[in-house]
Amino acid sequence: MSPIGHLAVGFAAKRAVPKVPLVVLLIAAWLPDILFFVFNFAGMESREQPAPYSHGLLMNVMWSLLIGLLALGISLDRRVGTALGLVVFSHWVLDFVSWNNLPLFLRGSRTVGLGLINEIGDFIVVFELALLVPAVASYIAWLRNGRRDRRIGRGQAGRTPRAEVADSHSLEGKESHA
Ligand SMILES: [Zn+2]
Repeated sequence: MSPIGHLAVGFAAKRAVPKVPLVVLLIAAWLPDILFFVFNFAGMESREQPAPYSHGLLMNVMWSLLIGLLALGISLDRRVGTALGLVVFSHWVLDFVSWNNLPLFLRGSRTVGLGLINEIGDFIVVFELALLVPAVASYIAWLRNGRRDRRIGRGQAGRTPRAEVADSHSLEGKESHA
């Protein structure tokens, strides 16, 4: 799958773990492809053959556990650790749907995958956009709600209702009548 589909998972995960920076979630969702670039550069994997270290099931369980534990160690928050681990693993699941050459274990092991890309070719972009567009839309809606809630929260904390109304008017660019 191209980055489009994977990035959708990063955007969707932001709501579950708001304190994790979006860029971290996007990198986590794309991690196996980043690893492929590294292993490809190091001469360990190539496009012509199945890629066990970056895209094998066994190694993806390992990468997911590693990133999950790392996130847990940094954040001391089990929810963050679990989310990061699952986001990394989502890459394998989506690639399993798209491709048919993901190794189960290491080099020479059986390869698996549903191979959707062989069935629909470039139309897979439509499938990926169907993941990305709602994920980004709901992320933006969530951001907006968060901003509004924070504004209301600030208003309630130390202002009279009258001042709060004036404040929200001025924020909308209208004249304040306070
Ligand atoms: Zn991939």
